[in-house]
Amino acid sequence: ESDTAMYRAKSAGRNQIAFFEGNMQTEVEHRLTLERDLTKALELNELQMVMQAQVNDAGVAVGAELLMRWHHKGRGMVSPAVFIPLAEESGLIVKMGDWVLQEACRILKQLQSAGHYFSLSINVSPKQFRQKDFVDKVTATLATQGVDGNYLIFEVTEGLFIDNLQETIARMSKLSDLGIRFSIDDFGTGYSSLNYLKRLPLYELKIDKSFVQDIPGDANDTAIVGSILSMARQFGLKVVAEGVETVEQANYLIANDCDSMQGFLYSRPIAPELWISQHAQEQTATGV
Ligand code: C2E
Ligand code: MG
Ligand code: MG
Ligand code: MG
Repeated sequence: ESDTAMYRAKSAGRNQIAFFEGNMQTEVEHRLTLERDLTKALELNELQMVMQAQVNDAGVAVGAELLMRWHHKGRGMVSPAVFIPLAEESGLIVKMGDWVLQEACRILKQLQSAGHYFSLSINVSPKQFRQKDFVDKVTATLATQGVDGNYLIFEVTEGLFIDNLQETIARMSKLSDLGIRFSIDDFGTGYSSLNYLKRLPLYELKIDKSFVQDIPGDANDTAIVGSILSMARQFGLKVVAEGVETVEQANYLIANDCDSMQGFLYSRPIAPELWISQHAQEQTATGV
């Protein structure tokens, strides 16, 4: 190779690096702006909780998950996949999590006064769970709002069990005393050992949508889902399948005794008020 070719390659490489750094710069700025905006999102009323039903084999709601939405005044909708990690890293998730619990209580009472008695699941981030005064805060919120903990399920991810297991179990037990139940979200995608399953005060597993998406066609995923279902049965745990989009997926899950299904096939996450108005002629008393 000639020196000229070498030089060209090098300078192209340099340009590429410069270009890449330029992108990283914009990305950092973008993140900082978003983080600053997220700090104000609560007081600006830009955050909202939407509700996605979890249904049994008859299509009846036996529970629902509350999911956060951020309607940014300038940017429109920002995905939770973007702002939740940002909130987690900056610590903002703690304040946001307090608000989620209050919203859950408010929505629960709204559902109950419309005749719908099922539990609501909320996502509790590790940082939120690990606050020293978390149990006290939850106790106080339930008392102030006059809500029965038996109607709340906390979804946590496997990452919570990687360290301080002893302390985590103690805290979970205290919350269980309030009636709150625990569900492992995105089950099967984390790194924790199966050993904790027998040690934790758990109620439910949520099969991650990545496993659900290709059943029953994909033999490996079908085996994974089948194994989770039979293992959960032996541990006395309920199972929710997330990301159920097709009738074929639902049929397989129902045939294998999955307790409930959550996904676009049944309902998109929608404003709780909308769900209530869509179910105005019904009364529901399930899942508690
Ligand atoms: P997640 O808790 O696993 O929630 C399930 C996600 O799957 C939601 O995404 C939901 O909209 C989406 N989903 C539901 N059904 C279907 C389906 O049939 N197909 C597909 N492809 N997706 C479906 P979303 O709302 O974007 O939330 C993403 C993640 O952000 C959540 O995953 C959760 O980890 C986090 N998150 C959302 N709200 C909160 C919150 O209030 N607090 C905390 N700490 N995290 C939250
Ligand atoms: Mg969840
Ligand atoms: Mg999940
Ligand atoms: Mg998921």
